[in-house]
Amino acid sequence: MPQKTKNTPMMEQYLKIKAQYPDAFLFYRLGDFYEMFYDDAVKGSQILELTLTQRNKNAVDPIPMCGVPHHAAQNYIDILVDKGYKVAVCEQVEDPKQAKGMVKREVVQLITPGTILDTGVNDAKENNYLTAVYQSENNYGFAYVDLSTGEIRVTSMSDMAAIMNELMALRTKEVVVNPDFSEENQLMIKKLKILVSVQTEIKQSSEANYVSQGIDLELEKKVLGYLITYLKETQKRALAHLQKAIHYELSNYLKLDHYAKQNLELTRNSRTQKKSGTLLWLLDATKTAMGGRMLKQWIERPLIDIKQIQKRQVMVENLLENFFERSSLQEELANVYDLERLAGRIAFGNVNGRDLVQLKSSLEHIPQIQYLLNELNDGVFDDLIQKIDPLEDIADLIEQAVVDEPPISVTDGGIIRDGYDMDLDQYNDALRNGKVWLTELEAKERKETGINNLKIGFNKVFGYYIEVSKGNLKKLPEDRYQRKQTLTNAERFITPELKEKEALILGAQSKATELEYKLFVDLRDQIKDQIQRIQNLAKVISELDVLQSFAVVSEQGKFVKPQLKVDSRDLEIQEGWHPVVERVLGKQSYVPNDIQMTSGRDILLITGPNMSGKSTYMRQLALTVVMAQIGCFVPAKSAKMPIFDQIFTRIGAADDLISGESTFMVEMKETNQALQNATKNSLLLFDEIGRGTATFDGMALAQSIIEYVHDNIGAKTLFSTHYHELTVLDEELPHLSNVHVGAIEENGELIFLHKMQDGPADKSYGIHVAKLAGMPNDLLDRADVILSKLESQEVTQLQDKIIEAKSVNEEEIRTNTKKNKEQNNDDSQLSLFTPEIVQVNNKDDKL
Ligand code: ADP
Repeated sequence: MPQKTKNTPMMEQYLKIKAQYPDAFLFYRLGDFYEMFYDDAVKGSQILELTLTQRNKNAVDPIPMCGVPHHAAQNYIDILVDKGYKVAVCEQVEDPKQAKGMVKREVVQLITPGTILDTGVNDAKENNYLTAVYQSENNYGFAYVDLSTGEIRVTSMSDMAAIMNELMALRTKEVVVNPDFSEENQLMIKKLKILVSVQTEIKQSSEANYVSQGIDLELEKKVLGYLITYLKETQKRALAHLQKAIHYELSNYLKLDHYAKQNLELTRNSRTQKKSGTLLWLLDATKTAMGGRMLKQWIERPLIDIKQIQKRQVMVENLLENFFERSSLQEELANVYDLERLAGRIAFGNVNGRDLVQLKSSLEHIPQIQYLLNELNDGVFDDLIQKIDPLEDIADLIEQAVVDEPPISVTDGGIIRDGYDMDLDQYNDALRNGKVWLTELEAKERKETGINNLKIGFNKVFGYYIEVSKGNLKKLPEDRYQRKQTLTNAERFITPELKEKEALILGAQSKATELEYKLFVDLRDQIKDQIQRIQNLAKVISELDVLQSFAVVSEQGKFVKPQLKVDSRDLEIQEGWHPVVERVLGKQSYVPNDIQMTSGRDILLITGPNMSGKSTYMRQLALTVVMAQIGCFVPAKSAKMPIFDQIFTRIGAADDLISGESTFMVEMKETNQALQNATKNSLLLFDEIGRGTATFDGMALAQSIIEYVHDNIGAKTLFSTHYHELTVLDEELPHLSNVHVGAIEENGELIFLHKMQDGPADKSYGIHVAKLAGMPNDLLDRADVILSKLESQEVTQLQDKIIEAKSVNEEEIRTNTKKNKEQNNDDSQLSLFTPEIVQVNNKDDKL
């Protein structure tokens, strides 16, 4: 039996550390490489396309191994984390030269999907959130942090549906949960491809105390406790930039569930998953990355408090009207660096001299911004002006301490300005004098030896030397020159004089570098103490940036300021348009439309041919509402509108890939969400509900949904349908009106007018659309025949049924349902309909 090889002390150390991080890839530092072993190596080599090798190749049990060079490690870490893994970075924590026995190693950071920083320039306008959910007996605490900016928000929720919604909206990649968080709930979260990490306990820390200041609810304190403990355990350092948690209430914002955000393409194009073609894309004329992030947050959480909205409106209006100040403001903003992330990097201790210079030059623009705001001031910017702290002390400090163009490295000197520190100045003088002296020596030696190309150089091994080319060697005096190195064409020498000066110069050099580094760290720490002030300034600047962006976009798009009302539910939009579609099609090609939803028109039943613009019209309204409630102007000639509490949408037919449910099931679920949660202050958009099932089934559902909204909810509703028969409902439902998209036929061709008109559409034009799609003429002719047959016989009959159905009282509905159940046990799709109508259906089949 071959014996198992005994582990070396290094592998013993490796295994001990790895045991503490079983669920992470362990990057184990060995010299210039990070190595992975065993399963990590097998899996890591596959994912990262690295060569898998072996340690102890000739042993009976060689150890699989692969590695990445330390200077390129970040890329590999990013790939793994992006795929949802964790990476534990294990460094040598003592100098190998001074180590007795094994070099000590420790994990210095655990990088996880929710805590990864600096994931590339492209993401500068995106936040990366780590979320924590704390499950108590009957409630949940919910908190999230962006580690790069230190921003934290916290709230409480009563059910998992709300949590799932919020997780999707935040696009969180990782959730930290408490040990009591149920397996079932964990599974639900994992289905969204979110990494779930269980944090076993809450540990006290100054960060946790600071973050939860001002948070009253025990539940919320707890969830913050878990969140901060997890952060501390993964980051393994002080996190001075964490901000006080801000408590928020979902009910203080316009509620848009995940489906609605997706359907309306607020921040993400549902086809490409990118920003292009979204409302965010349209509204983004921000000049700073932090403004870009704030804009996204605003769009995702529109306001419902009229005062807050109007406050934004006046500022936007003011900026819009003052072209000169606005353009100057933009120029200033364009020079402001990402202060928020910079604050984070200062806290992490990974800023260099260049970052500090950028901080300084950003701060130099603040006084001008203040000045411009004062110029604009009608009192509307008072709040913002008061919040601006120009941080002159920090700018001065950096100006005094740091040279204008410092190097990237913080350990090699060259960062600190002359005059900042007396000791450093002395070393630098010695250095400079020494260098002058070397130049003089070179001249002197050339003269004495008559060798014109004699030169003094420096290398790390020999220090300073005098180099003489082979041809000139004979001219050298024997005594003073001592040979050190022979090259192909030259020889290098030293002299006692040279060595004496060298000692002075190198001494000064190393002392200077050491001192510089210390001064730099001191400086960084001094600025670290002021991080909150930098963060506060970043907030004001971001807000200003978003407001100016609204002004610019509103001016370019010719948007108007909407008149918002709280005392009336009337909505009147004149000549409005879908801002994104209009941008893509061009102003000339877009037909503007009115949207009138006054009394008697709470529900608009929209009919019209396919491709005529029904869903564009519905989305137009939703986007107009979102734009109004974030404080922006809106795409219309004039707009009067109430404030909405929620928007629900059922538009488009996307299968829910995550849960694997069918289109129709998703449709019903989304509709149900709306029906369960909407109030009379909500906006409902229902696009062709019921088309995913059999005709009568679908029509029955559509009608009953409309009636339900009409009788029980009273929400403003746009309902598009291709069931023409339903247009008779306006006779029975006082709050419902018909509108349709006009189309005309010319020489057998169909021309869409894209214009909404009152009343029902007279035809559905499906066959025309099929013609446009290029179907064979024979087929189209046949469809025409079938259609005229159907129309002549059944439609009127059907419409009578619809009206009849409306007057059926609940008792009858129950009896019918029961009867149907008995009669149609084999056909569960036909639940609400009477047998006569089933017969109509059978006739269709025979044609
Ligand atoms: P429907 O929902 O009726 O099938 P859509 O709303 O999807 O139709 O619109 C189909 C296409 O018609 C859109 O992609 C757009 O290009 C165009 N369209 C819609 N509304 C307008 C409009 N008001 N003016 C010009 N073109 C429009």
